[in-house]
Amino acid sequence: MASRKIILDEEEIPKQWYCILPDLPKPLPPMINPKTREPVPPQALEAVFAKELVKQETSKERWISIPEEVREVYRLWRPTPLYRAVSLEKALKTPAKIYYKYEGVSPPGSHKPNTAVAQAYYNMKEGTQRLTTETGAGQWGSALSFGCMLFEMKSTIYMVRASYHQKPYRRVMMETWGAEVFPSPSERTKFGKKILEEDPNCSGSLGISISEAVEDAVTHEEAKYTLGSVVNHVLLHQTVVGQEAQKQMELVDDYPDLLVGCVGGGSSFSGLLWPFYYDKVSGKAPKDTDFLAVESTAAPSVTKGYYTYDHGDSARMIPLVKMHTLGHMFIPPPIHAGGLRYHGMAPTLCLLNAEGIVKSKAYNQIEAFEAATLFTRTEGILPAPEPAHAIKAVIDEALKCKETGEEKTILFLLCGHGHFDMQAYDDYNSGKLPPYEYPKEKVDESMRRLKELYPWLEW
Ligand SMILES: *Cc1c(COP(=O)(O)O)cnc(C)c1O
Repeated sequence: MASRKIILDEEEIPKQWYCILPDLPKPLPPMINPKTREPVPPQALEAVFAKELVKQETSKERWISIPEEVREVYRLWRPTPLYRAVSLEKALKTPAKIYYKYEGVSPPGSHKPNTAVAQAYYNMKEGTQRLTTETGAGQWGSALSFGCMLFEMKSTIYMVRASYHQKPYRRVMMETWGAEVFPSPSERTKFGKKILEEDPNCSGSLGISISEAVEDAVTHEEAKYTLGSVVNHVLLHQTVVGQEAQKQMELVDDYPDLLVGCVGGGSSFSGLLWPFYYDKVSGKAPKDTDFLAVESTAAPSVTKGYYTYDHGDSARMIPLVKMHTLGHMFIPPPIHAGGLRYHGMAPTLCLLNAEGIVKSKAYNQIEAFEAATLFTRTEGILPAPEPAHAIKAVIDEALKCKETGEEKTILFLLCGHGHFDMQAYDDYNSGKLPPYEYPKEKVDESMRRLKELYPWLEW
């Protein structure tokens, strides 16, 4: 009988995070200031982020110690379980072995507190009194509210207006942890006011909310800004996920042939991927593991976007970053997977994709919910809409194995539960979900505009 649930002792919570920067196949292209056209010195980022986080952002060290205070908080829900999807395998009649690492057991219900707690901790140490951030569907906002609550700090969350009204329960969760939450665009920032003057009914986007949260932080001495994905230090903090998964796979004497995860900004998947990538580059991996990043066809940054320099936010307050992008003025279709609606992607993941090390694939939300429903009816856990996209990819791979007879070991990240996404499931169940496919022409058009803005950029 294969064991279904593989758990670790508290002592097995990793003591260090793994930083991929020294092991990338090429150096990461630097951030560029569009005015000077020069690389941004890391110290410039200290205007928005805590110093320690800026240091981690460009770390040359492979292993970074996790403060005991942060590990102490991790104990609330870590180590997280790893499951063998015995019932799903049976339903698919596949010879493949499917495992998933489940991050939905954290209090906010996703992987995001792995970094929220670390970021709140370092900010508290450096005397920050209030943290600002953006949130889409509310996963990141709730993780940060949770982190700030634990270290007795205030938090201000700019929530994309469409979600603020459609998904009130995440807001209530944030407020219960003590956060103040505003629908974005809001009247609280210059940029928010400007957008509202142009379009009083603007439903918002992550790019707009980021601009508001950054503006709030840079105009208030006591506040700093935080990000929930994309940047190196966030991905770094997520590597507890992959390190635990390695130990768990060892316990069942198995090793993945394929790793799968959904990507919005790329943090959860990188948290799983980086430690396995390190196994590979350091010659420790017993197999030549493939890596597959899965996104939504409604926000297909990697599969349809351009790999070029662009801004991470709509107001162009954040310097230019080399990444796969749909353009910084991208307003996403209103799909339910709020976490997959960002226009850009983590620069490290983009580099690995450009080098052919990480493959990518996109699915629409109907395909994703169909897969999530099969998963719920076999494994019991109800996934968030974002990892539902990864589940779809896993099912496709497992069905391929059925044809070829390959006994592949597949490991995917179930990065959150879907308990706040019942409207999405209801819409799917009643056949009301449109598939959404973001057109290539629209990507080309925003890239033309980016080119006009910065004709000096190399393409
Ligand atoms: C935020 C979020 C995502 C997308 O962000 P990544 O940085 O790509 O992980 C995916 N799934 C869940 C459950 C999320 O909360």
